[in-house]
This record gives sequence, C-alpha cells and structure tokens, in this order.
Amino acid sequence: MILHDNGLGHGFSEFGIDIPVRDSRALRTFKRLGKHPLLGPRIASWHRRPSGDALGPEDLYRVHSRQYIDRLFSDRLEEELIRTYELIDAEGRYHRYSPADAVKPLSALFERILSKVNGTWQCCRLALKDGFCFYFGGGMHHAQWDFGNGFCLLNDIVIAICRLGADRQIRHAWVIDTDAHKGDGTAALTKDDPSITTLSIHMAHGWPLEGEPVDASGNRNPSFTPSDIDILVDRGEEDAYAHRLAIGLNKLDTYPSPDLAVVVYGADPYRHDELPSTRKLKLTLEQMMERDLLVYRFLQRRNVPMAYLMAGGYGDRAWEVYSQFLEYVLLEKYGK
Ligand SMILES: [Zn+2]
Repeated sequence: MILHDNGLGHGFSEFGIDIPVRDSRALRTFKRLGKHPLLGPRIASWHRRPSGDALGPEDLYRVHSRQYIDRLFSDRLEEELIRTYELIDAEGRYHRYSPADAVKPLSALFERILSKVNGTWQCCRLALKDGFCFYFGGGMHHAQWDFGNGFCLLNDIVIAICRLGADRQIRHAWVIDTDAHKGDGTAALTKDDPSITTLSIHMAHGWPLEGEPVDASGNRNPSFTPSDIDILVDRGEEDAYAHRLAIGLNKLDTYPSPDLAVVVYGADPYRHDELPSTRKLKLTLEQMMERDLLVYRFLQRRNVPMAYLMAGGYGDRAWEVYSQFLEYVLLEKYGK
C-alpha cells in the first residue's frame, strides 16, 4: 500500500532554499505505478490518502525536549529552521538560501513538516493493518532531542513509534535505516529505550560523523551515539554492501521480535544521487534493488509489518530507485 498526498510538496525552491530534493521522486514514481498495465486499474486497492488525523503536542514532548518544541511553536521557529537546514554559514552569510526567491514563508515549511510527521504515524498504522505501507514522505532521522539537524526538524520515526507504544498498539519496534547517512538522531533518542531496536547501514565517514565524538568542553556529540547495530561502508566498498547488510539483519534476531518495523528507506546511496555529502557511497540501481529485497524478504519471512519512509534521495534520478522497488512489491501484492 502507498500513502501519498498529491498536494504535499517535497522540493524546497518555493522557500528560497537550494536543496536538491525534487517533487519528481514522489510524483514520477506515483505516475509510473499508476500507468502500469496491471497496477493502474487496481490503484484504489493500493493507494491511500492522508486521513487528517493529527498528533498532539504531547506526542512531540514525548520524544523531544519541551523547550525545543515550545521554540518551534514560538517566534523562534525561523531561527530553528535556519539552523536545521544550515541556511547561514559560519561567517553569517546566507548559505543555499535566497529569501528574495521565496514565494512561501518558512512557517509554511513547518506546516509541511508536521504533515509529514502525521503521515509517518498513519503509515505505521496502515502497516499494522495491511502488512506493508510505503509513505511518500518522512524519515527525518537526524532530528535530535533538543535541536533539528541535517534537514530534519522533528524525528517522525520515533514520534510515531512512541505514540503507538503509548496507545498499546505495539510493544517492540525495529528501525532499519538504509539511508546513506547514519540514523544518528534515531539512535540518540532511543538509546535508553529497550522497546526500540535500531539498525543503520551508512557511509563510514562524512556527515553526520564529522568532528569529534566529544568536544573541547567535554560535550558529547549525539551523532556518535551508536545504534544497536551499526554497519559501516567505506568509499569503494560497494561490492561488500549487501553481504554486510545481510549479516547485520541477522543480528536483529537476537533482539525481541517486533510488532512493527519502520524502514528508513533512503534512495541516496544511489550512484546518481546529487547531494554532495553522499558521494562516498555509489550503489548501482541493481545494488539498490539487492539492498531493498534483502530487507523486504527478511521482514516478510518473519511476518513483521513494514512501514517504509522515503528519507533521503536527491536530484533528478532518485525516483528510479523508489520506482523499481515499489513496482516490484506492488506487483507481488496486487498484480495477480
Ligand atoms: Zn541521507
């Protein structure tokens, strides 16, 4: 099942922000699936729209610091967005940001982010009902307890899982993060929570693992908080990716079996990804499919409901990765 809101934007240019996330990754993927000769006529069985159910402030306070959430709902929102999207550099100049080109205020970006957090929650509930749901949004895995980071203001993954736990809909969840960047916010937010097991396969070096684990003043950098299972892939090790992922997935069996798995998908390990910080990992389209089938089959064999989130995926060719996986899965589920 696909959860897709046709009206929800993905690109940032309307806010004057130059980050290469294109609307095409959702729109083109959706179009290709809708035009498929077997899937198109069955679109009503596999497409869902947002329900309109909205999480409340208590759901955000459960995961992030009260001061941080209160700042987001105050006149300090813009400051937090500027930090999270790195719109001002160390010299105080605008970076990847041109407010004069914006046609929408930054506050509208916050509304879009909140919609995505709600979408992730709905995706998890649809997964619990149907066994599989892929949401065209979400996966903001870098957001930390008291600050946003790496284009991620709120950690929708942990917010949704904790709400489902509070509602007693699940007891244990796995987060499987195959985005090119480490799922550092998720690891830090769940490090003391035995009900959530985290696996992240990511670039061994580069953002968010730059700098020192502890700074000169003795403050720990939360990005270095280990996931339960971390799998590192160094530059030039693409051929070892699938084997390492398979070993890491098998380690999940030593943790409590889950009621739900959230897969932070990430198309950005793809060799044609356009975000400069993903250049250390260059999987081919075939290697991306190998990755995706490893995770999908692993969860399917264990009968674990799967909630997939788009996460990172930058540039004009990201849609190719989402499309090939989703066409495969939907044909298996709905194409007969
Ligand atoms: Zn990423």
